Amino acid sequence: MDCLFCKILNKEIPADVIYEDDQVIAFNDINPQAPTHVLVIPRKHIATTNEIADEDTALVGHMVQVAGKIAKEQGFDESGYRTVFNCNDHGGQTVHHIHLHLLGGKPLGWPPY
Ligand code: IMP
Repeated sequence: MDCLFCKILNKEIPADVIYEDDQVIAFNDINPQAPTHVLVIPRKHIATTNEIADEDTALVGHMVQVAGKIAKEQGFDESGYRTVFNCNDHGGQTVHHIHLHLLGGKPLGWPPY
């Protein structure tokens, strides 16, 4: 499968991995949009949030929990941060393997026009 994030999972492409377990890995975004910009991805290939099956809900919850733990480790859990799943063209999704963006370390603008 020609998937960039599967290649990172398979170590065919290097990444700055900051967390991993049996379900997910997290690595620094190559083009950070905040002082901390981490992507949390499942080891299971799921193309978009539209393809999240009933059996995946615990996995997706785990992704959110891991993002929160990283925010705490990085010291901005109390000041706040943003977690985002982009979906398809209008959502700005460029890599079709679901990934949770974790952005933090400064006040973030909203809405994202
Ligand atoms: P999307 O636009 O929501 O699909 O997010 C894809 C993200 O992957 C973007 O923030 C990119 O900067 C990031 N990205 C693309 N290629 C790499 C890579 O090789 N390593 C780390 N992050 C990447």
